[in-house]
Amino acid sequence: MSDKQESILITIQGIVQGVGFRPFIYNLANSLNIAGTVKNTSAGVFIEAHSTPEQLDNFYTRIQSDAPPLSRIDSIQREKIKVIFCSGFSILESEVLPGAFSIVPPDMATCPDCFAEMFDPHDRRFRYPFINCTNCGPRFSIIRRMPYDRPSTSMEGFPLCPECKAEYDDPFNRRFHAQPIACPTCGPHLSYYQNGNLTGISEDALQKARDLIKTGGILALKGIGGYQLVCDAHNTNALDRLRSGKLRSSKPFALMAWDKEIISEYCSPSENDERLLSSPQHPIVILQATNNKLQHNAPGQNTLGFMLPYTPLHYLITEPQNSYPDVLVMTSGNISEEPMLIDDIEAQKKLAHVADGFLGHNRPILNRVDDSVMKTLPHYYIPIRRARGYSPDPVIISEELPEVYAAGALLKNTFTLVKQKQAFVSHFIGDLDNLETYRDYEISIDNYFKLFQFTPQIVACDEHPDFLSTQFAESLACNSNLQLLKVQHHHAHLAACLAENKQPLDKAVIGLCYDGTGYGTDGAIWGGEILLGNALEFQRKAHLEYLPLPGGDQAIKKPYRILIAYLHALNIPFPENCPTNDHCSPTELQVIHSQVDKKLNIVNTSSMGRLFDAAAALIGVRQEISYEGQAAIEMEALADPDEKWTYPFSIEDGIIQVKPLFMAIIEDQKRQISKNIIAARFHNTVANLSKQIVVNIMEETGCKTVALSGGVWQNSLLMEITTHLLNGVGVELLLHRLLPPNDGCVSLGQAVVAGMITKRKK
Ligand code: ZN
Ligand code: ZN
Ligand code: FE
Repeated sequence: MSDKQESILITIQGIVQGVGFRPFIYNLANSLNIAGTVKNTSAGVFIEAHSTPEQLDNFYTRIQSDAPPLSRIDSIQREKIKVIFCSGFSILESEVLPGAFSIVPPDMATCPDCFAEMFDPHDRRFRYPFINCTNCGPRFSIIRRMPYDRPSTSMEGFPLCPECKAEYDDPFNRRFHAQPIACPTCGPHLSYYQNGNLTGISEDALQKARDLIKTGGILALKGIGGYQLVCDAHNTNALDRLRSGKLRSSKPFALMAWDKEIISEYCSPSENDERLLSSPQHPIVILQATNNKLQHNAPGQNTLGFMLPYTPLHYLITEPQNSYPDVLVMTSGNISEEPMLIDDIEAQKKLAHVADGFLGHNRPILNRVDDSVMKTLPHYYIPIRRARGYSPDPVIISEELPEVYAAGALLKNTFTLVKQKQAFVSHFIGDLDNLETYRDYEISIDNYFKLFQFTPQIVACDEHPDFLSTQFAESLACNSNLQLLKVQHHHAHLAACLAENKQPLDKAVIGLCYDGTGYGTDGAIWGGEILLGNALEFQRKAHLEYLPLPGGDQAIKKPYRILIAYLHALNIPFPENCPTNDHCSPTELQVIHSQVDKKLNIVNTSSMGRLFDAAAALIGVRQEISYEGQAAIEMEALADPDEKWTYPFSIEDGIIQVKPLFMAIIEDQKRQISKNIIAARFHNTVANLSKQIVVNIMEETGCKTVALSGGVWQNSLLMEITTHLLNGVGVELLLHRLLPPNDGCVSLGQAVVAGMITKRKK
């Protein structure tokens, strides 16, 4: 080994703050006899290291191979610097650099070490609901500004006690520089309120809350990213009260159980499901139900959304005990589609009519963040909602783009900020047609701009003139004198799928963009779109034929109205024994018919979502819905996966004709074929016509890559059949894995389209 010593500067970007990175560097440097310093800055982590070239090489390699589990290195660079003279290795104060930014870590589920301590009667944090360490605990939800240090978080009001301070300062302790650490002496504590009065604190508060749940009451619980409503998942009386209080008639409730063994009594989680359930993110996982015992939590479905406890408080509230419920409803604490409540006083006011008690605490929630939802398939998983545990991790794209702010869609909104190769897709915001959610949208944008020190150069939005997100983008562009680019909705879907798969952004792909609603370039409502394009441009190669949507968006709540209009427009006589007949008076039928004939209050649509709705009404699955996608979800639940038969379809000049499909369903009904078979055949037909169009475009253009995007791809059955068929014709498939295929991905698509178009113009 040479005696020659040299110094290097290592710069690291990625998820390197709040995940135990500096302690890791400190310990690694000490073990390798490296002198120097490590510093967190708002631009990432900077390390000055001094040793022999061999040891420095070793150090550089091991930083990458041994990094802490929650960290993620996006870029690492080394350069030689003037030799530094120092002995030992030290951690320097954090620094805010002007214009720079670093990545804000997401909230992470309680780690096994903290769990063990929490249930150890000899530990000083025994049953302490706010235990955490460098590997777990709140992050994004408690951050006010960067860099990520205690005074920048909502823990600023809790000075460390001597014991916690010693752990915080000890590089060999797993709480070394863990910003949110706390203990019963110095940290937050629980409080329990009933009828506006404080009736218990700490363990007493917890026991009162558990008693409430046990006796059939509804508890409002302050979770990590917002209030949640909790009750016994077996108590139908409590569930009914919860539904009417939340104005939520049939949308499924998320469930929580102490461990996987309990979940297995109701569902059959696959290996992939189990991995996701206990991943550091702990999302809600949609599982196949094996019995009906809990199905009143998810009416009309054959699945249940389960999660495991992800905070110490969730462990304490689900802890098994004689005659205590084994499964709890754990749904967001809000009314209808409003944002989850985060403020204690507001929660006590707004949830008073539904919650019988409030279990809160004095650690403020600074960023609202919902539970994430994932669905697994035999070969893939589909994100349904991306929030806690995942946001605000950036999506890394294949090329550097200018700084774009993209406003997103109207429903299931997210927005995106692009900085270089990083696309910060916001957590799930919700449906902006709700005023409270729109306010939350504005607040979140403000928070993200500050956290990421973001100043947009370009603004992107949807082409739909009425979207509140579009209007927000228009006024931002106008006020800041920025260029505004409007991106067609399905083009954004295609581009989002391309971008999150790290594909070259100018690579042409075939996009099967299937969703409910998207504003088309011709003013019609698109949604069954087969596009050929990249992030710069697109061609509409094929689409579902235009059919009339009576009363525009109002019909969306009533699939039977869509069916009546579709059949009339297609000149198909209304079938005599149609399940819709009980729902629709002859007068209403006449009104819809004349509406279609006279083109009164009619919008033309090529929506795939509406085709599913019409089919679900015809088959007799559902005539009216209370949440988006309900008819399709219930039809999927009904379909017999073993049925392979397909209905006829025809494609003329890229226009998919659906008359043969409806005629065939009606024929099957006359022959008394079961709903399960008909529903399956319908799915098979959509998959087969998709494959046929892909094959046609492949033969015509030579393009062999297919992207699947749009909310319809949340349908696992359709996804399985289609991907199977497409794999059979040898295409390269691009699927959403980081972002949901629904409109939650649209902001990323808008951002990369606007970014690429601007970049190419320069
Ligand atoms: Zn921990
Ligand atoms: Zn303490
Ligand atoms: Fe969409």
